[in-house]
Amino acid sequence: MADLSSTSRRLRDLGVRRATLIVDRDRAEANIARYAARAAAAGIVLRPHFKTHQSAGVAQWFRKAGITRAAVSSIGMARYFADHGWDDLTLAIPANPLEVEDYDTLAGRVALGLTIDSHATCDALEERLQEAVSLWIEVDTGGGRTGIAWDDHAALTSLALRLRAGSGRSAQEPRHRFAGLLTHGGQSYGARDRLEAAAIFATVRRRLQAAAAALGDAGLSDDSRRGTDATGSSILLSAGDTPGFASSADWSGLDEARPGNFVFHDLMQLSLGTCTQDDLACAVACPVIGVYPERHEAAVHAGAVHLSKEHLSGTDGRAIFGRLIGLSADGFTSLLPGWDVASLSQEHGLIAARTQQARHGLAAVKPGDLVLVAPVHACLTCEQFTSYLTLDGEIISRYRR
Ligand code: PLP
Repeated sequence: MADLSSTSRRLRDLGVRRATLIVDRDRAEANIARYAARAAAAGIVLRPHFKTHQSAGVAQWFRKAGITRAAVSSIGMARYFADHGWDDLTLAIPANPLEVEDYDTLAGRVALGLTIDSHATCDALEERLQEAVSLWIEVDTGGGRTGIAWDDHAALTSLALRLRAGSGRSAQEPRHRFAGLLTHGGQSYGARDRLEAAAIFATVRRRLQAAAAALGDAGLSDDSRRGTDATGSSILLSAGDTPGFASSADWSGLDEARPGNFVFHDLMQLSLGTCTQDDLACAVACPVIGVYPERHEAAVHAGAVHLSKEHLSGTDGRAIFGRLIGLSADGFTSLLPGWDVASLSQEHGLIAARTQQARHGLAAVKPGDLVLVAPVHACLTCEQFTSYLTLDGEIISRYRR
């Protein structure tokens, strides 16, 4: 079992001098392998969202597990992965009419999927897109962010009929293909526990299927689940959120899974019960710059610009911006009990010793030591860094905006 001092020693042996994003590659690869196996068992395509790691190096670990498709959330990220050999990408955010020329250029190089939820965006794409793309209609299955409401059958069918009718009729027309319905059940992050996340996921799937059935009623599909339309093209159903896929063994009714966070997990997933401590695969090594035994705290040079301001509420209602995790010769260990990140300013973090045992440990902490902080929300924490350091000392770069 690692403790504060052995963790600090190992991080120093890795050459860490300032706030550094550390990845436990074995754990990340185990997370990837588990999801790849689950998708294969469910008979559905795993199209992981790469916005969590945003790294061609990490993407190679997915490639090793047989994954060949990915979702991204910006055209820049799409270009970056295309430059690194990923040739089947979905931009899983409503298309931006101001970037149509960029989409067109990229669609000339890779199989590109775009997401829309309005006729206005469809107008912009039809006007200026020359290259073939797949178009997904985003459905709001309860997240309330983007997408056409799942039960607004009139809006769904009107857009779907337009996409189907406009698909490549002549050289002048955009040669788009209506791919299907896409949703992100992000409301799962508001669940109290794993059971509630599973219930939300079941509702998301049911609503997506109901939306597909409405298209069927409008002549777009002859199968009430999703099936094929009169031209024989299938209308695929794509969903993606880590709590949903993590909490439920039943992925039926879907064709594609787009979770992203699962590659690293984080304290948010842990608090939802949608991962275990053994699944936490990234953390930030933070140098101690001050120790204040009288208030049971130490300061680290790692603030909001390193960890992000995402926080959880502890049982006593206090905000928690991270927890300390150990590092042994075998990799990350479990969380170190009694420690959390109690507050953040731009460059500073305050770590607090909450228990007698942790306070005892604090007595041995000194400036120049290193602690390892498991983030609340891995996607946003990783976003603050330009590279990862593996436990083998390898530096793996990330996409830079
Ligand atoms: N799909 C879309 C459209 C998303 O916005 C996200 C995350 O925000 C995902 C998939 C992946 O979800 P998660 O981060 O829960 O894995």
